[in-house]
Amino acid sequence: MDCVFCKIMKGEIPSEKLYENDEMFIIRDIEPKAAKHYLMIPKRHYKSISEMTDEDGVAFARSLKKISDLTDKLGLQNGYRLVINQGDDAGQTVPHMHVHILAGQPLDFPDLRK
Ligand code: 5GP
Ligand code: ZN
Repeated sequence: MDCVFCKIMKGEIPSEKLYENDEMFIIRDIEPKAAKHYLMIPKRHYKSISEMTDEDGVAFARSLKKISDLTDKLGLQNGYRLVINQGDDAGQTVPHMHVHILAGQPLDFPDLRK
């Protein structure tokens, strides 16, 4: 499959896995938008929340919980923001479900109507 995250998962594109288990892995974003910017990527390929199976949803909830266990390892002690872009208006560029983890600085909350 021609999917950048599936290729990273298989090691076909190099990217250090900061954490990995049977259900997901965490890498640094190649174009960081904050002082710390990681991606939590479920291993099963599906595009978006609307394509999640019930099993995906359970695994996804476990994966979110796991992020909170990794605060020290990822340097998230001062807080972090999770972002999931879904579809075109949100600017989703990789059609493989993933969660952005943004941290390492105060994160403003832009008013996007301006
Ligand atoms: P989206 O725009 O779909 O929400 O997020 C996709 C993210 O994947 C972007 O922030 C982009 O920088 C990141 N990305 C795209 N290709 C690669 C890659 O080959 N390696 C890594 N580490 N991140 C990537
Ligand atoms: Zn994929």
